[in-house]
Amino acid sequence: MTRVPEFHTIFPRTDGAQNIYHDQSACLVGKSVKPEHRRYGSAGWAKCQTCHEIDVKLTGAACSERRAPWQVANPISTER
Ligand SMILES: [Zn+2]
Repeated sequence: MTRVPEFHTIFPRTDGAQNIYHDQSACLVGKSVKPEHRRYGSAGWAKCQTCHEIDVKLTGAACSERRAPWQVANPISTER
């Protein structure tokens, strides 16, 4: 499993699901994006959940933060 530069497909989803970008070579969803349809960058889209989970496994970030960025609707404030 390797982190790769962020990429997304040039075809926005039409099924109502959220557009996502990938940054893990092992991501099956990312693998389904044909090379000729890949573009570098996140396009401002949310990170793929599969890629996030792979990233968590790689970095061990799950210990301190299990929620993905897109799931944090109300971050716990440490101020007062
Ligand atoms: Zn992915």
